[in-house]
Amino acid sequence: MNRYPKRDDLRAMSGYHSPQVSVKVRLNTNESPIEPPAEFVRELAGAVSAVRWNRYPDRAARELRGAIAAMHKVSPDNVFVANGSNEVLQSVLLAYSGAGRTVATFEPTYQLHSHIARIAGATVVNGKRNADFTLSEGEVQRVLAEHQPSVTFLCSPNNPTGMAEDPAIIASTIKNAPGVVVVDEAYAQFSPHSALQYVNEDSRVAVSRTFSKTWSMAAARLGYLIAPTWMIEDLEIVTLPYHLDALKQVAGTIALKYLSAMERGVADVVAERERLLSAMRTMPLTLWPSQANFILFRPNGTGTAGTNGTGTAGTNGTGRAVWQSLLDGGVLVRDCSSWEGLTDCLRVTVGTPEENDAFLAALRNALSARD
Ligand code: PMP
Repeated sequence: MNRYPKRDDLRAMSGYHSPQVSVKVRLNTNESPIEPPAEFVRELAGAVSAVRWNRYPDRAARELRGAIAAMHKVSPDNVFVANGSNEVLQSVLLAYSGAGRTVATFEPTYQLHSHIARIAGATVVNGKRNADFTLSEGEVQRVLAEHQPSVTFLCSPNNPTGMAEDPAIIASTIKNAPGVVVVDEAYAQFSPHSALQYVNEDSRVAVSRTFSKTWSMAAARLGYLIAPTWMIEDLEIVTLPYHLDALKQVAGTIALKYLSAMERGVADVVAERERLLSAMRTMPLTLWPSQANFILFRPNGTGTAGTNGTGTAGTNGTGRAVWQSLLDGGVLVRDCSSWEGLTDCLRVTVGTPEENDAFLAALRNALSARD
């Protein structure tokens, strides 16, 4: 039978996926390398038997939203929960973008922002970052004024570049944006500041967070949004009934009891990130500073060491070749080399000390093979 044609506007698109290659050291998707505390796993196992499996879950996820609200010192009415922060972002875009509306991003940034916006039927405008990947006030204001976006995305720390956005630019974007501003804070616990302070009933600001990174719960698929109550009410319209299953609700609620374990894990990952950065500074790489749990780097074309954006750009193809040779050495990193503005760039997630050692050894090998 002939295939039925999909929507015209989806024809040029493909799905957004990071390859799930079976390899010993997987440092390509920014998960936590640390398992959740054993007490969490035990408590969750006990809670499984208390789930009323024959009944739909609490549609309003009251307990989980209450626990998140208590942590952030907001009302549960300011909390929206969904299956990963990707679903949170999708819900915002379903409610506030769509056909005839515009969504603004500043590239390079998390590709799902544009991807979901297009699927929601919106027009996407991509503002540009400076050469060092910081945001420029002029460019942000130009995009806001010229395109009047219904939704403007900031990502702090920004994936895949690693740096937190300048707080002054976050503040001025919020002040001048004509529509909703979403600050994607998937990596916020690694960062020195947050935009949560800007969320109030009179603002159009929403901050998204996830359990996938610092909470060591990527398998659960759980994320949330802190936003004004009117926005949470709007999101209810686009949310499927009972979208968040009972087990996930209970897992999220229990996880929040282990805040200090999470914070210790963040400190360990930051220490490993700094160790990785100092080792990588001795190699022929261009490196960008990171306030997240990953590092963006680019193999230099000339074989000379460079740091903090001062190195010499490799020619196109160098990044891909180093990615392949890392993979041959048993280490999978994210290949960003074909993404706009990221020629030859690769992104490595901070792993366990052993995984990081394996990465450094494989990287040394890959780079020396190119000398
Ligand atoms: N935002 C950013 C910036 C991310 O990097 C990711 C994960 N790669 C997400 C959101 C989505 O995370 P999740 O759906 O696992 O919560």
